[in-house]
Parts: sequence; C-alpha cells; structure tokens
Amino acid sequence: MIRYILLLMLPLVLFGAKIETFKVKSGQTYLTFLEEQRLPTKKLYYDLDNDDQILTQEIRAGVHYQISKDSNGSIEQILLPLNDEVQIHIYRSKDDYSFEIIPIICIEKTEACSVDVTNSPHYDIYKSTGSTKLATIFVSAFQNSLNFKRDLRRGDKIVMIYDQKYRLGKEFSMPTLKAAMVEMGKKKHFIYLNDDENYYNEDGHKVEGFLLASPVRGARISSHFSKRRFHPVLKRWKAHLGVDYAARSGTPIRAAGSGKINYADWMGSYGKLVKISHDDGYETRYAHLKSIKVSRGKRVKKGDIIGYVGSTGRSTGPHLHFELRKNGVAINPLKVVQVTTKKLTGKDRTAFLKLKENYDDSIDLYLKNNTRFIKVPEHENQCYFFSKEFCS
Ligand SMILES: [Zn+2]
Repeated sequence: MIRYILLLMLPLVLFGAKIETFKVKSGQTYLTFLEEQRLPTKKLYYDLDNDDQILTQEIRAGVHYQISKDSNGSIEQILLPLNDEVQIHIYRSKDDYSFEIIPIICIEKTEACSVDVTNSPHYDIYKSTGSTKLATIFVSAFQNSLNFKRDLRRGDKIVMIYDQKYRLGKEFSMPTLKAAMVEMGKKKHFIYLNDDENYYNEDGHKVEGFLLASPVRGARISSHFSKRRFHPVLKRWKAHLGVDYAARSGTPIRAAGSGKINYADWMGSYGKLVKISHDDGYETRYAHLKSIKVSRGKRVKKGDIIGYVGSTGRSTGPHLHFELRKNGVAINPLKVVQVTTKKLTGKDRTAFLKLKENYDDSIDLYLKNNTRFIKVPEHENQCYFFSKEFCS
C-alpha cells in the first residue's frame, strides 16, 4: 500500500506519459536490469555492437533512472544514465524495443553562496548548503595557497559562485567553481576560473596545486622520509629518501603533478621506475612498479595513471616508493611545495581582468547580503538536447 502511494507521488508528466523514478540497486548489471523489467535481452544487449555492450558496463548503483509506461502499464521508454554525459534510451516502436545512447538532458544554473566561518570551511559550507561536493571544491581550490587551519578565524567570510547541473529537478554531477573569495582577518583572497579553464588568483597568477596528497589513493604510509634512519635489520644508519605507500599489487599509481616523463624503465634496486620532471627543477620518482603505463618524453597531467603498484627491484612486498627531488636533492614529499606559475600578460591579462571585475561585483553583492546562505540562480542554460519533442 505504502509503495503504491509513493509511486503515485513520484510520477512526473513529461512527454504525455507517466514517468516513475527508481534507483539502480547495488550489484545490478544492465543485463539483470533487462531481465527484471522483462525486456528482450537479445535485442537490447546481445545484438548490440561491441562498443555499446562495453558502455553498458558503466551502469552504477545509486543512479536515478526513469521509466515511462502507457495506460496499460507496459514500458514505453527508459532513460538510464551511464555517466555525466550519456544515458541509455530504450524505447518501444510498435511491438519492438530499440536501444540507443543519447546525451543527458540537464539544466545548468549559476548559483552563489555566502557563508560565515564558525568552525572550518569544509564544515561550515556543508552545514549551510548540505553539499559535501561544494565544501570539497572550495577547500581543494585554496589548499595549495592558503593555510586555513592556521589563519582562518571565527567570523571570517566565504563567498563562492559555481555552476550546478540539475537533471529532473535533482542536483547532478560535480559543481564547477567559477569564483571564490575568502576573507581571513580583513584580507581577502580570490580565485577565478578563467576562459582557458585554469584558475588564477587576483594578481593573474595561475593557481595550480603541485602535489597530490598521495599518488596512491587511500593508501597507508608504511615508511616516512628520513635523511638518517637506523635500519632494524641491517643494523646501520641508512637514509630513506622517500615515502612508502603500502598497497595491493596492481593498485593504480597517479602522477603527483603535471609534467614530462623523463624515465620509464628498470633501474637497479628501484626496479621498474618512472621519473617525472616538473616546473622549477622538481622531479618525482615512483619505484618498484609492477608495470609502467607511460613512456619517456610523454607529458602527463596531475592524477593521470602512470603505472601499477608492484614489488620489483629491492623490495620485500608490494608498495610504492615515492620520492620528490628539487634540483636533484631529495626532499620530504609530504611537505607542501609551492611552484612559481605562469602569470597572464597582454591581451590574456586584459580579458582576465574584465572577467574578474564581473565576478568581484557579484561577490561584493553576496557579501553585503547578510543572509547566511543564498542560492540565487543567475541564468539557466539548457545544455543538452537529444530530440525536440523531449524539450518542451
Ligand atoms: Zn621506500
């Protein structure tokens, strides 16, 4: 009975049919989904070409999908999102069903929020907006240039302007931070997303986080950096010029910063080794790899997978040995490193200053408004269309 009432409340009338919203269950595959809905698996899965079959494996638990049914209760259409961009569209034509991959319809809104600091930026933004995603993008935007723990006080202010996508009235995908301001003890710090897709501060300096927290996500540090460490087995002083991350063999290893691969091969006790050279004479090294995914001379972006955890060379078990060097000298990779970055000049700078001015006006407005949390849609863009009749 309760279920019946819920279903009555959920339907939205979109294209003249009743649409119900469901969630993909954990462990559900596209094939089990078809079987559950009593849809023809031959036509809608086995007859698909290889690329489409592979794409259907991207189905994720927790994602909302819609089913529209006719007055007899038989399925007319299904929209099942696979990622932020595309979805599976199953539709009935006469007595047969067809499959296609189509873009996701969503609406993008520019919104802003203004938050007073009482605890920490992450906590306060989450408390005001209910969004951990917003809290995360704000904190990571400033993490390499400001020290919130040390310098932020109660009563300081945060303003952020961001784009958020909505799909059928629900927030969808990661928001994009467009501009943000944090006032710390009367001094204001800004960050702006420029037209070149990079972030710049108020002086027009590019803001780029150099190091990731860890080149192996979620891994435990099993050995820290030390210029002299008394080796418990060898009974002698020995330097450990890097950080060890314990992880299962085959765990992906990511570039700690953007740069150029200058070594990707076996090197003595390092085993299979990747070296990346970065700006300002910095170099990172990744040792004992099971396999290497990049080749010498290639450019990588921060976060790109460069190889997999292994135990090659002088190693007693699977782990990543990670080093950071500046002009050849090993330094502690867990120290925050600032890299001098590109500064905008000429035409680019003029264009940036204009963009900055617009954002500054908005930020001032949100700052003056004493509402603790404002969510103001400035404009709406219908960003994806797949067929006219669905866009009423
Ligand atoms: Zn090590």
